[in-house]
Amino acid sequence: MLFLSCKGDIKKHRLLPRIIDFTTEEIIETGHNTYQYRKSGDVYVTIFPETSINYLNNDITLNNGLYAEFSGYIPKKKTKIISDITISKYLESKRAGINVYVVNIPDSLSIEKSIVSARYFYNDNDEYYHEFDLKYIDTIAGFKRYGFVIGYNILWKVKSIKINISIDFTGNLTMRAYSLNKVVDRQFETQVIRFSPKKSKEIVSADRSKYRLEQENRWKIWTTVNEYKHHGFFSNPIDTMQYMTSSLGMVREWRLSNNKLNSKDTHLGIDYSAPKGAPVYAVLNGFVTFAGSVEYFGNMIIIDHGMGVYTSYCHLDRIIVDVGTLLESGIQIGTVGMTGASTGPHLHWEMRVHGFPVDPLVLKDLSFR
Ligand SMILES: [Zn+2]
Repeated sequence: MLFLSCKGDIKKHRLLPRIIDFTTEEIIETGHNTYQYRKSGDVYVTIFPETSINYLNNDITLNNGLYAEFSGYIPKKKTKIISDITISKYLESKRAGINVYVVNIPDSLSIEKSIVSARYFYNDNDEYYHEFDLKYIDTIAGFKRYGFVIGYNILWKVKSIKINISIDFTGNLTMRAYSLNKVVDRQFETQVIRFSPKKSKEIVSADRSKYRLEQENRWKIWTTVNEYKHHGFFSNPIDTMQYMTSSLGMVREWRLSNNKLNSKDTHLGIDYSAPKGAPVYAVLNGFVTFAGSVEYFGNMIIIDHGMGVYTSYCHLDRIIVDVGTLLESGIQIGTVGMTGASTGPHLHWEMRVHGFPVDPLVLKDLSFR
């Protein structure tokens, strides 16, 4: 058995690839280092930091982490070009339920085709499959950066996510990378919300079939993966963010004014209490993909930030932007209100990744700079 591990602060440690060679059954675990070896013929494997694999008879079983296989014709400096291609988890937040991956490729290579597929395993046997492509971010110091974002799903109690990244480069080089993320179960608090007699009437008479159609329409929007919109810097959605009244994942009992239980739902965003008329801002650059009045959420705006990342702003009093407008981070989009199912003026703020609700506060850390 071969055990390779490197301890130290990742920020101080350069990720130098080390070439290793082994032929029989092995377990390999990397610390902060990256390892490369030649599997067979012209197939090269890179094992990225914090990865554990089992290797037997030329087959690799991934226990956790990330590894990539490279094959195809590369004219010169094979291992140099391959070791220059890196994949990293740019951002990982288990609390927020999000992973951001960045692929760095040398400027001398071009991507012909890329497919990222994510398989979500939940409820033991069920799985959900979603496929999209890498999006270009920028070019820095001779390297092009591409990325994608993965959101866990707090509703389905996802246990693990398998990600396959497939890239065909021009010039016959291919990369097939595999990542495995295990998800830890979380418990969420229960909250009771009570509606006024007026709001109770509105909730009881809400049009359920209209709501279902609106949800389908929103799902179509949220699962569309468009180009990265060069986020800009994060701006707060409202000026006063200290009055958070509901967090993500809370199980909420809806009580009508006669104390009757109307429904139980999982809160898929964050609520901030604020006075009616307070300005609401776009948190990152993006296109307005929806602006209008809907069941339960009242006046709602959805902004597309690219890469399958969307933010939504609900219960607004006024909407002051139009669909199709490209917004800059920090631009006012509307005002706080209590339209829809609301017990008082507040902003319901949501973030979706490929349709899955995640904690929008993570956006403070999502800036590719
Ligand atoms: Zn809310």
